[in-house]
Amino acid sequence: MRMLAALLTAVLSLSPFAAEAQDAKATLEAAAKALGEAKSIAIQGSGVVFQVGQSYTPGQPWPQFNVRTFNRVVNYETASLRDDLMRTRALEPPVGGGAYVRGEHRQVFVLSGDHAWNVMGENPVAAPIALSDRQFQFWSTPHGIIKAAMANPAGVQGRTIAFGIPGRFRATATLDAANLVERVEATLANPVLGDMAVQVSFADYRDFGGVKFPTKIRQTYGGFPALELTVTEVRANGPADITVPDNVRLAGNPYMRVQSAKAAEGVWYVTGGTHHSVVIEMADHVIVAEAPLNDDRALAVIAEARKLVPGKPIKYLIVSHHHFDHSGGVRAFAGEGATIVTQDASRAFFEQIVAAPATVGPDHLARSGRKAAVQGVRDRLELSDGTRTVEVRHIAGIQHADDMLMAYLPKEKLLIQADAFTPPAPNVAPMSPPNPFNVSLLENITKQGLAVDQLLPLHGRIVPFSDLQKAAGHSH
Ligand SMILES: [Zn+2]
Repeated sequence: MRMLAALLTAVLSLSPFAAEAQDAKATLEAAAKALGEAKSIAIQGSGVVFQVGQSYTPGQPWPQFNVRTFNRVVNYETASLRDDLMRTRALEPPVGGGAYVRGEHRQVFVLSGDHAWNVMGENPVAAPIALSDRQFQFWSTPHGIIKAAMANPAGVQGRTIAFGIPGRFRATATLDAANLVERVEATLANPVLGDMAVQVSFADYRDFGGVKFPTKIRQTYGGFPALELTVTEVRANGPADITVPDNVRLAGNPYMRVQSAKAAEGVWYVTGGTHHSVVIEMADHVIVAEAPLNDDRALAVIAEARKLVPGKPIKYLIVSHHHFDHSGGVRAFAGEGATIVTQDASRAFFEQIVAAPATVGPDHLARSGRKAAVQGVRDRLELSDGTRTVEVRHIAGIQHADDMLMAYLPKEKLLIQADAFTPPAPNVAPMSPPNPFNVSLLENITKQGLAVDQLLPLHGRIVPFSDLQKAAGHSH
């Protein structure tokens, strides 16, 4: 209860005009009555989800997954939410990003108060990067909206309800003639896009034992479908215990944890979390490959680069591809004045990104007021200063994303890439048939005539080239 009270005080009314208090009260009472009271709610359904931020081509729809069962539990007394999905890819072999898993797989996403985490197998893994979105998902449920409005009646104006959490999202819900929420228009703070437009629509409300709930829910994120759900069962006021696991409570900010290891003279593999970067020292500047996740991660990598190579500016950031988990730090590097190097297919996308407003959660770029340059690469770009050469090359034909770049250091025989090959754990047998992304990467290396000793994958660990050959089924 205390947690909800604390969160409710954080729910911000963004309407500059106070509605007639009496009207607002009457509207809210009518809306609450129409819905029916719920301290918790459990819904079941099925439909399709789309993996936001993982399109094949920037500016195109998110890749689709079919969801056989979608279970959501919301506890309004503890400000908690748990989504449990069983999903399969709509396209196999896959086109676009998201975990490469064959067949049906489970996803569990949880929120409680200010903690967000995922459950991987049996293990809870802190996911603070998802906090804004999960809090939006919690508050934008029909009952969540009415509870937010009760806490801040000043947000009610006629048939609209403004609500939000500073730094995370702001939203406006609209009531229909029956005083039920029919749609929500929101802006979420997003590390890649800055302000991200989100829309939710609710239709075909039905009565489930005294509580009304929409049986059709649609969401769009950044202009493309993210969820299309048909709700088949709803149960209000059942058990809804969601507690924050100790490891999540103690996780702190995992994105600021940085470790670095020398991969060659003047080349460092920067790890410490799920997504890595590489720092490369040139004669009078620094090149960084990859700015993943978010501002916090990017600023930690920038600080590490400064520590490893004091006194030289970061001149280039090489972006492996436009997927959000790999480009959430692009804006921060733009704020440092780095030139963003990207494949031609995503050049226009990143030009928009570095010019986009971030009014909900002002980030490093927004605060810097800088304008960044974006340099496109078609097949190959050589960054050289006489002491070292870094070749930025397109991974052509790969179905993960059409703007995939790899960085090749010919003298050191090192290859940096993301998602085309993530080394499996040492005791895990290669996938059979092989992962087609691994096969594409190997084909590109062969066709482009690159001599590679070691791979610096941006997930996983440094491995010899032979590990890729094995994974791609070329070991004999
Ligand atoms: Zn990817």
